[in-house]
Amino acid sequence: MHIKLFIPGPIEVSEKTYRAMGEPMIGHRSGDFKALYASIQPRLQTLFGTTRPVFLSTSSAWGVMEGSIRNLVGKKVLNCMCGAFSDKWLDVSKRCGVAAEGLQVEWGQPILPGQIEKALAQGGFDALTLIHNETSCGVRNPLPEIAAVMKKFPEVMFVVDTVSSFSTEPIPMDDLGIDVLLTGSQKALALPPGLAVFAVSERALDRARTIEGRGYYFDFVEFAKNQAEDMTPSTPVIPLIYALRSKLDDIFAEGVEVRHARHAKLNAIVHDWARARGFEFFAPEGYSSLSLTCVKNNREVDVAAWIKRLREKHHMVIDGGYGKLKGQTFRISNMGDETEETVGLLLGALDDTLEG
Ligand SMILES: *Cc1c(COP(=O)(O)O)cnc(C)c1O
Repeated sequence: MHIKLFIPGPIEVSEKTYRAMGEPMIGHRSGDFKALYASIQPRLQTLFGTTRPVFLSTSSAWGVMEGSIRNLVGKKVLNCMCGAFSDKWLDVSKRCGVAAEGLQVEWGQPILPGQIEKALAQGGFDALTLIHNETSCGVRNPLPEIAAVMKKFPEVMFVVDTVSSFSTEPIPMDDLGIDVLLTGSQKALALPPGLAVFAVSERALDRARTIEGRGYYFDFVEFAKNQAEDMTPSTPVIPLIYALRSKLDDIFAEGVEVRHARHAKLNAIVHDWARARGFEFFAPEGYSSLSLTCVKNNREVDVAAWIKRLREKHHMVIDGGYGKLKGQTFRISNMGDETEETVGLLLGALDDTLEG
């Protein structure tokens, strides 16, 4: 039974993408692989808004999130924390054995530029991690405003996770002065899990060269060396790279700006639906995610039972709240290939199953 995913990751994968994954295997040091990698590079650079090379890591996003700590932190990292994924980053920093401090706000609240400025002004930091779109609570942090503050602290590497926002809105890496921009395959890109895609600024690569203990698998210097020959350090997940190429074909056929507008529109449709039914939103106005909606369960619906009815009757699922927000919120993704028609079908099915 195919249950259609409207959870914010992994999200629904198209038949076309699955077919692309079935292409014959090739050697990862072959000319065929180099041609495959080279063919996707310019479009990835366009989506990243960078002239820097884009790297492919056979891992989930966490590999590169941890790698950023191991490659860039010589003194101390400031981990901006506003939800499950960003909170975890502090724990990961500590496990990597680097000095780390958290800038914690309440789940559901955004990280504000003034808070970052104040924290960094204490001195001693040489890296900062930020999750652009905190998927666990549907908060979208004000990236351009934060980037403006980061420009006052040139010694602090600016690491930005865009796992659930990449390609759904413009995130121009070079203009914003981002040092590491990373995303994963199974959310905004609508691919199966297992591939992380990232780019590293020149100064961040220079920093990495001075850092001991970078390890091998996520060593940015190794990625750069191999990428120069259109290769990856170790054998990559080639089926997902085929899938990525197919997805890039889709994205550029639709048009990048049209894709952005589609995400904004679908998100607004979900917001209108929730508002019209008396629901509120978990994130404050102006800081809501554009690729998913985290709805506050102020009507005190039995969310788990609702989702069970939705699944059984309509073969669709939404998310019933992340971690400690289980039951208090629910989340609806509008990432990937959704259209007004498919989102309309979901919202109709949610209405149909709301009352038990
Ligand atoms: C899902 C998610 C992650 C973690 O991704 P993995 O693929 O599990 O490594 C990190 N950051 C954000 C914003 C996410 O939504």
